[in-house]
Amino acid sequence: MTLPQSPLMGQMMNQPLLVSGIIEFAARHFGDSQIVSRRVEGDIHRYTYRDCHQRARRLANALHGMGVALGDRVATLAWNGYRHLEAYYAVSGSGAVLHTINPRLHPEQIAYIVNHAEDQVLLFDLTFLPAVEAMSAICKQVKHYVLMCDRDRMPAESKIPGLLCYEDLIASHSDDYEWPQFDENSACTLCYTSGTTGNPKGALYSHRSTVLHAYGSALPNALNVTSRDAVLPVVPMFHVNAWGLPYSVPLSGAKMVFPGAALDGKSLYDLFEAEQVTFSAGVPTVWLGLINFMLQNKLKFSSFRRTVIGGSACSPAMMNTLMDEFGVEVIHAWGMTEMSPLGTAGVLMGKHRELPQDEQRKILLKQGHAVYGVDMKIVDDDGKELPWDGSSYGHLLVKGPWVISAYYKDEGGDPLQNGWFPTGDVATIDADGYMQITDRSKDVIKSGGEWIGTIDLENIAVSHPAVMQAACIGIAHPKWDERPLLVIVRRPGMDVSREELLAFYEGKIAKWWLPDDVVFADALPLGGTGKVQKNKLREQYKEYKLPTA
Ligand code: AMP
Repeated sequence: MTLPQSPLMGQMMNQPLLVSGIIEFAARHFGDSQIVSRRVEGDIHRYTYRDCHQRARRLANALHGMGVALGDRVATLAWNGYRHLEAYYAVSGSGAVLHTINPRLHPEQIAYIVNHAEDQVLLFDLTFLPAVEAMSAICKQVKHYVLMCDRDRMPAESKIPGLLCYEDLIASHSDDYEWPQFDENSACTLCYTSGTTGNPKGALYSHRSTVLHAYGSALPNALNVTSRDAVLPVVPMFHVNAWGLPYSVPLSGAKMVFPGAALDGKSLYDLFEAEQVTFSAGVPTVWLGLINFMLQNKLKFSSFRRTVIGGSACSPAMMNTLMDEFGVEVIHAWGMTEMSPLGTAGVLMGKHRELPQDEQRKILLKQGHAVYGVDMKIVDDDGKELPWDGSSYGHLLVKGPWVISAYYKDEGGDPLQNGWFPTGDVATIDADGYMQITDRSKDVIKSGGEWIGTIDLENIAVSHPAVMQAACIGIAHPKWDERPLLVIVRRPGMDVSREELLAFYEGKIAKWWLPDDVVFADALPLGGTGKVQKNKLREQYKEYKLPTA
């Protein structure tokens, strides 16, 4: 029920929630806090929020000079770095829409989304010069290409007509710029979903949703970002706005540390130590690389205390290693592009304090508790709400002010079901409100009319010392419809047989969940955001014949 306007309205300043306010606040109140970047050029760059704000205003003037107006789309193809952060604020702050493109997408998909978004300007890192040269001919509406590098790194000639140098633009424009005020519901940033099936679809965030998400995600029950932290977002700024960190870190006044393109274990470890990083966020595959490097070289962290892991499930093996070997608290979080992205975060409640450690871990391994700003429920195939008992599982639906109401250009029609957004995930919710993902609905294995969740099967496999990565997929079965096949990547130099692995499951799961077979692979196919592409695996093993009992 919606009431008419109240006869007595509040008397507070009606200041729109705009992202420009975040950088303005950081520059005024945490002006000396540092932003440190490992640049594509190879060196370390260091400056402050005050400097960032000044250069963002110069860039805003430059964009204005290029004719970029309210609502126009400006794209970036860039790693995590200070220039990318300047673009975040200059583009959105001036009223245009920042479109962050995932450079790991197939070039055809990149060209598709640049055209679909009708990007007018493309700012890109040196790494992507060949890719941008190749696509510039088919992206006719892009009027300006800006290479984000120093003048001396500009190519002598390029296939891109009128290629501009970012540093020239900054140098030739004044920082005399006042952030404009406009409706907080105006579009702010545009992110395309990974699009495992069909073309990617755009999630178009507003200033209001972005600022609310920044507040909500910085809360102590979520990421708990403070001005005492040094935060290194490993999650790329092209993966759902680095989970909001380019906003929540400046508003908290924390030091920001950007890793650039160097995401291997050694480069990350060196930067964590050199900059005394306390907090980070990334997908499990990144932590795998860092953990392996540290174990091989018998290293420990001296400052790193807390990390968020999300994007795909954090296995018990990974959580135990980070917590027990390295003393890093793991916050397991869940979300998606359509949710800005944060939905849940896994931190304990007061009443859990006295529980034994293994009981606490069981709670922390779930995908977490809703953050205020997101409501959720699970429903059966008929849309009937299921109980929060920790065992009933169903389709997970969400709603809230930072959840999409439609895709960009209304692609795919109305996505909502009675005002709720269907996430495509299958989950349980327990009596305390902790949600656990069993699977993506399209990855779940349907065996004899029942569902087998693949995340559990994969978590058990990776707890075997000889297993580095595991993925479980459904293979067609004449009697049961589908049965699980386990695809395993062994740890280098270690061995485990099919029989040993299957025996390892005994007593850990219901008998009928036991995989029918195990195959060994050199690597798993990973998508642009570091997730295992199960659609590719299913395609690869389409003809696979499971052994008959
Ligand atoms: P994306 O929009 O590409 O970030 O993908 C969102 C999807 O990633 C979600 O719908 C989940 O299926 C999956 N996901 C995200 N976080 C987790 C997590 N912590 N555990 C399991 N799956 C996750």
